[in-house]
Amino acid sequence: MDAHEIAAAVAAEASFMKDVLCRLVEAPTTLGNEEPGQEVMREAFRELGLEPVDMPLDEEMLRTHPAASPFSWDVSDKRNVVADWQPAGEGGRSLVLNGHIDVVAEASSLWRTAPYTPVREGDWIYGRGAGDMKAGLAVILGAVKGLQALGLAPLAPVQLQSVVEEECTGHGALQAAVSGLRADACVVTEPFPASISVSQVGVLWFHVDIAGLPAHAGDARDGANAIEASFSVVAALRRLEAELNESPPPPYDAFSHPINLNVGVISGGDWPSTVAAECTLSCRLALYPGQRVDWLQAKVEHAVAGAAGTHAFLAAHPPRVRYDGFACVGTEIDAGHPLVTTLSESYAAVEGVAPELVPTTATSDARLFLLEGIPAVCFGPWAENVHAVDERVNMPSMITAAQALAVFVRDWCGVAA
Ligand SMILES: [Zn+2]
Repeated sequence: MDAHEIAAAVAAEASFMKDVLCRLVEAPTTLGNEEPGQEVMREAFRELGLEPVDMPLDEEMLRTHPAASPFSWDVSDKRNVVADWQPAGEGGRSLVLNGHIDVVAEASSLWRTAPYTPVREGDWIYGRGAGDMKAGLAVILGAVKGLQALGLAPLAPVQLQSVVEEECTGHGALQAAVSGLRADACVVTEPFPASISVSQVGVLWFHVDIAGLPAHAGDARDGANAIEASFSVVAALRRLEAELNESPPPPYDAFSHPINLNVGVISGGDWPSTVAAECTLSCRLALYPGQRVDWLQAKVEHAVAGAAGTHAFLAAHPPRVRYDGFACVGTEIDAGHPLVTTLSESYAAVEGVAPELVPTTATSDARLFLLEGIPAVCFGPWAENVHAVDERVNMPSMITAAQALAVFVRDWCGVAA
């Protein structure tokens, strides 16, 4: 079956993909609220004639696995949903097609539209999670449906996965890598348009609990303000960030500022007329592939201790650094790996040009598969404003990504009637 016939069959599924995307965006699948989105995925798998199977998170495994991250929340009701596309023959290479169902919160009241109401404007669909990465899930479904419409099935097992917790730990993907199909390759359909990710940074989440001494604001000098003390902690962390950006190793030397500290949440104090007795900073910091998480943790703790040492109150009441959420390494895949070269050729067969091979300054679930010995990359549609306001995804790019993915199934797995 030639690439153009496959591309035409996938293009015919454009309205199916758009419809699934809109149903997914309507489910506000923030951390702890993933289940309504997973229900949409179960329905969508059934529409493809596939049997959805729940894959619960195994807390015991996640507490001990070397690729897991610390977490303080309940995972007892959490589940991935997967579906196996049974092979029509044998001799091909097996494949996982993976996407995450969870989204980050809407971040702001500045949205032009309601974040969880999909809105179409021209070629774009707006909504939280539209690009990161519900469109990617729709792309997987569209690619499979297009091949099915041609009466084709793969020559090796293909597992479709909708996982939880990409945005905080990667534990859905870790569970899938451990107890899902031990595939020969995995494609995560994150928004990497016309590009394939070959390198990603690691990410560390840390929380700094800063103590103060409460007092009446009228006698503020009798107290110690924890919120104001946090400013010197942030300044010390910014110096660490500058140090980490001094001489980036390749391929990150192509970025002007690859390692970013984000002070994402600050909480503290309890009354305008009370000197703040507590303050917590919740931060994200990145690390290069090859660096260890515990090495960065030591750097963070050293920076925090240094700031505290020069502070009148904190010197005697040192802040505590806690870890909850991402504690993960960076990962890479060789540009000459057959997964990368084959996917590049499949894309070129549809678009006429090869995709770019790119490093990314974020993490993704591809790392869990790589760490479990399953070669993995990100490749997908074109999205803008992810994690920001007015997130949107470009619909023609969804078709292109699904076409390339379907041709890749032909090229990687082999297909038969
Ligand atoms: Zn994502």
